[in-house]
Amino acid sequence: MAAHQEKKPSEERKHKTTQNGTRTPQVQWGRAWEVDWFSLASILFLLMFAPLIVYYFIMSCDQYQCSLIDPLIDLLTGNKHLSDIWNKTLTLTYRAAGIYTLWVAFQVFLYVFVPDFCHKFLPGYVGGVQEGAVTPAGVVNKYEINGLQAWIITHVLWFANAYYFHWFSPTIIFDNWIPLLWCANVLGYAVSTFAMIKSYFFPTNAKDCKFTGNFFYDYMMGIEFNPRIGKWFDFKLFFNGRPGIVAWTLINLSYAAKQQELYGQVTNSMILVNVLQGIYVLDFFWNEAWYLKTIDICHDHFGWYLGWGDCVWLPYLYTLQGLYLVYHPVQLRTANAIGILMLGLIGYYIFRMTNHQKDLFRRTNGNCKIWGKKPEYIECSYMSVDGTKYYSKLMTSGFWGWARHFNYTGDLMGSLAYCLTCGFEHILPYFYIVYMTILLTHRCIRDEHRCFSKYGKDWKRYTAAVPYRLIPGIF
Ligand code: NDP
Repeated sequence: MAAHQEKKPSEERKHKTTQNGTRTPQVQWGRAWEVDWFSLASILFLLMFAPLIVYYFIMSCDQYQCSLIDPLIDLLTGNKHLSDIWNKTLTLTYRAAGIYTLWVAFQVFLYVFVPDFCHKFLPGYVGGVQEGAVTPAGVVNKYEINGLQAWIITHVLWFANAYYFHWFSPTIIFDNWIPLLWCANVLGYAVSTFAMIKSYFFPTNAKDCKFTGNFFYDYMMGIEFNPRIGKWFDFKLFFNGRPGIVAWTLINLSYAAKQQELYGQVTNSMILVNVLQGIYVLDFFWNEAWYLKTIDICHDHFGWYLGWGDCVWLPYLYTLQGLYLVYHPVQLRTANAIGILMLGLIGYYIFRMTNHQKDLFRRTNGNCKIWGKKPEYIECSYMSVDGTKYYSKLMTSGFWGWARHFNYTGDLMGSLAYCLTCGFEHILPYFYIVYMTILLTHRCIRDEHRCFSKYGKDWKRYTAAVPYRLIPGIF
């Protein structure tokens, strides 16, 4: 596992090119300043339908044994009305509100008040105070990296409860899944709305705000780049990682406990989902400092897309395989289980190694070895909002010479493995691979558009050297 000591911008070669009077020059990289009709249409579609999509999936499992077709057939044939389905849906309960409030409060406590201790005894782990990337306004934020610690403490308490204290049943998440959905929505909307108001009245860094003038776009994609409360409570880092990703593995454990309760055993498919997604989650926290340099933190502003997405979309739709397996306990043949495990592990290896190669390359400014050789790269330059010119490098060696986003390819292989654990009886568990393919392909295009705005002709030289995006020779 890679140790990640992030490169400080002060280590980058830079010099001032313009500093003309009081007007602040606007750079073109970062989020869009103007909204095209296609982005606006997509945003309106997502604002209206994403909450319904989540509800539809969860309701299908609750009322239709995870069939996505049967509710439609019932509605189209008049067998049921929307009100019948709605009336059968569990409402918000005091119990769920209590559980959710405690959960979020506990994660806030771990994030804000418990400085990282893990980096003091875990070799190779980078935690504690770390610097993020330089923002378009030229700001470098400091972050308290303590996600791994929060994940460990939370899981130790979970297992201590399950095997020793018995304060609550390990099936608690599954048992309150729909009432918790309403709580997650309340938080998702509240935080996105708060972030919007905050950006107008008390932004953390006014120069890193982007107003397009379109209310829906600004609400969805965010205005503030790095909203914070106080010195350390960073919205993006908190909501991206906790409560959603810490919860991911607990949700899967709760599904496994439910299988045990219902059928007296946990199937090998459920174990595979727990293990493969557990590796992905642990990897995320182990590499949290590296995560500061990913698109989510480096380039996305904080709006509904991240706020609501992290509170609702992620915990509810990324865990569909485990939920499905509670209703359909699939016991895989050993050969199939091994095949799926291999696909998941190879996907994970590609995902991690590709990310590691870029991180190592950037951290050492190219003074490293990739597959035993000095890496090849393209020199490029860009400008921050105050007119400072920075220099950077785009690597063309290792997996980065195979395709421009081979890390996404590995991620997609892992995602497919999760879905395959569920067999082929229903399409619901395959939502994840379909969604990830759309997300990562769109992300590829979005990132490349941004990189082109940032690096200009240097980016063109790079795409000429590495012509494929995801699959060498194909796309
Ligand atoms: P990348 O880690 O690929 O970062 C892209 C950035 O890296 C570019 O904007 C550019 O930034 C820099 N870069 C691009 N090409 C090169 C190169 N050849 N050499 C050096 N630097 C380069 O993308 P993400 O942040 O989107 O993804 C990080 C990981 O997170 C991926 O593995 C992805 O699969 C995963 N992910 C998972 C999601 C999930 O929901 N499960 C969602 C999103 C991502 P710069 O401006 O610094 O040059």
